Amino acid sequence: MTVEPVDIVGLTRALVDIDSTTGREGECGRWLADYLRGRGWSVHEQRVDDTRFNVIANISGVVQGFSPAVVFSTHFDCVPAFFPSRVEGDRLYGRGSCDAKGILAAQVSAAEQLRGDGESRVGLVFVVGEERGSDGARAANDAAPGEGPNFLINGEPTDNRLGLATRGILRLKLRATGRAVHSSFPELGESAIDKLIDALIELRSIPLPADPVLGQTHYTVGLISGGVAPNVVSAAAEAEVMFRTTSDAAEVRKAVSPLERRVAIEHVLEVPPVKMKVVPGFDTAVFPYTTDIPFLQAWGEPLLFGPGSIHVAHTADEFVSIAELKQAATHYVTLAKALLA
Ligand SMILES: [Zn+2]
Repeated sequence: MTVEPVDIVGLTRALVDIDSTTGREGECGRWLADYLRGRGWSVHEQRVDDTRFNVIANISGVVQGFSPAVVFSTHFDCVPAFFPSRVEGDRLYGRGSCDAKGILAAQVSAAEQLRGDGESRVGLVFVVGEERGSDGARAANDAAPGEGPNFLINGEPTDNRLGLATRGILRLKLRATGRAVHSSFPELGESAIDKLIDALIELRSIPLPADPVLGQTHYTVGLISGGVAPNVVSAAAEAEVMFRTTSDAAEVRKAVSPLERRVAIEHVLEVPPVKMKVVPGFDTAVFPYTTDIPFLQAWGEPLLFGPGSIHVAHTADEFVSIAELKQAATHYVTLAKALLA
């Protein structure tokens, strides 16, 4: 079958040049759905909310009930701030060039190469909302065919290495309460800020779980607030702590439970760590971030692979190497063929 090769750079730039900051993915989704239809794909626009939808596609000609054996997936939303594409030498700059529109283009290119080779058991699942709570992936999980695809190749920047495992997330809010009084008589009040500081200092010496592959659980106190004025003993203070977990989050919750003598602990969000399938012949690495994979379980056994570096994703001069993008498409074909064999 003759399939027109995908211009990976052109496709990446077209996607980058449509602002799809999380929450505003509608226009980019419409463009992508039209692009895929134009190449002969069957496309399902799966509503996520009033203006945003996932783009789910297959090449077998039947959208409802199709069961691809291998699914490529990534996200087409981006973090702010939007900036358009430009090429300088081997580098393609622009918001989303690395995370993850270049990846999306490489996956489309791979799927089209596979189609050219007569392979029809490939699907595409491109979602919204990855950068803020994964509402797109959560919705996409419900759209998976009952027969369950075998493998999900999810794309995030891994420098063209296969992910062995990714860390999970546990976000907890520590809330301290006190009693406000005039700060000239602090002994008459109770400082919520002092209690919170004591809890955070105690947290530093609490041993946290470790995993042989993912390493030690670590955390960041990313937000802290409290008090109303310099001359008032604080009645309330809180901190948000984000753990990058390496095992069941229940172990972390248990480890930090002694803090409840000082503060109330509120559960905000949990995403489990994931171990992924690997294929011989690829470099592998462990990644400290989480992805949409924990929310796409119905789409098959996960693999993680993508061009570009996580260290330039989300930065003010985000870029991806054009050579690496093109290599990624070749690697995706090799991976899919190994899985389909
Ligand atoms: Zn991403």
